[in-house]
Amino acid sequence: MDKFNFAGSKAFVRVDFNVPLDENFNITDDTRIRAAIPTLKKIINDGGSVIIGSHLGRPKGVTDKYSLKHIVGRVSELLGVEVQFANDCIGQEAKDKSAALKPGQALLLENLRFYAEEEGKPRLADDVTDEEKAAAKKAVKESQKGFTKTLASFATVYVNDAFGTAHRAHASTALIADYFDAEHKLFGYLMEKEVVAVEKVMKDTARPFTAIMGGSKVSSKIEIIENLLTKVDNLIVAGGMTYTFIKALGGKIGTSICEDDKLDLAISLIEKAKANNVNLVMAVDAKIADDFNNNANTQFVAVNEIPDNWMGLDIGPKTEVIFADVIKKSKTILWNGPTGVFEFENFAHGSLSVAEAIVAATANGAFSLVGGGDSVACVNKFGVADKVSYVSTGGGALLELIEGKVLPGIEAIRGY
Ligand code: AMP
Repeated sequence: MDKFNFAGSKAFVRVDFNVPLDENFNITDDTRIRAAIPTLKKIINDGGSVIIGSHLGRPKGVTDKYSLKHIVGRVSELLGVEVQFANDCIGQEAKDKSAALKPGQALLLENLRFYAEEEGKPRLADDVTDEEKAAAKKAVKESQKGFTKTLASFATVYVNDAFGTAHRAHASTALIADYFDAEHKLFGYLMEKEVVAVEKVMKDTARPFTAIMGGSKVSSKIEIIENLLTKVDNLIVAGGMTYTFIKALGGKIGTSICEDDKLDLAISLIEKAKANNVNLVMAVDAKIADDFNNNANTQFVAVNEIPDNWMGLDIGPKTEVIFADVIKKSKTILWNGPTGVFEFENFAHGSLSVAEAIVAATANGAFSLVGGGDSVACVNKFGVADKVSYVSTGGGALLELIEGKVLPGIEAIRGY
């Protein structure tokens, strides 16, 4: 971005303006819009014009509820430029308005996902036959080419700043890049920052490298854990998934969350850690509750001695010390998922202690990346987002990068 001079260019910028709206279409959190502003401003300040493309929600067709017209006012406000709007992302209005754009002007296109061609997936009723499905799939893939080409025709340069959708091979996130030569497609600032941060963790790793994996279920994190076991020095297993491991090891977990069909997997992950010389760190004590409720009765017990009818909802004080000790000695830290039900005030302390240890390690020179949904909510809740090295904006995209996958949105631009 810094090297490219956008003067006289028309840039198609794919952003992620998938913001939450209330029932009156007020934006309840504009973080994602703010995140794309530096890229849009740079283009405008250079003397270029921008055509902004985004999705909003998961519409099944054209729906007022998911119209980007609801957010155009806020985008104008944050950008400091009156942003025009085209009611249809590839219609005549979009063509005319993008053709008429002057340097310094901006146009927001209607929700790209109003067209099935954006995702390249047909929208079918449940009762269609397999043949009909296959035919519809082929048809949408065919018409996707025209859709992508039309979007590309509006611009002279393509900028992808939508890290949140970088794991999707959609028309505007990846396929469109084919219509621009290598000098005319680039990452926006946000995308660039995300890629640099993840590569700092996964590729140029300063050691020791510690990953803290929390959250509710081991099943949603299997591929990540397997990939991390080939990369980390320490893997801290926390949150609800702890109890699947503890049960697999023969412990008593009461009514704690557990995936009984993943006990063998838990054992194989433990063995893999051993084989790879990874220090697998698990809780030794738990804060347990007699109900899934912030005001439940609580006590601290050994993590493998949870009485019947009690459940582990957070780590205990001994575990906090063990986790903090490992984290503070680390030079690279990745945190994904809380240590407990942090949404309940009485079960947030473990996650807070992890956040504090990460802050201390970061102050001491470690590189810390926090990402993937709930741990981002944690650092925001605890007010420490600016005291870690990087907070990722990408949920699924970040997790796939950590799984070791090549993301279509990244590959489309730089070729790997
Ligand atoms: P995930 O989306 O898999 O990262 O999981 C995040 C969710 O896990 C949060 O909503 C937490 O409340 C929940 N969670 C963490 N620890 C536990 C636990 N011990 N029991 C039940 N849920 C938990």
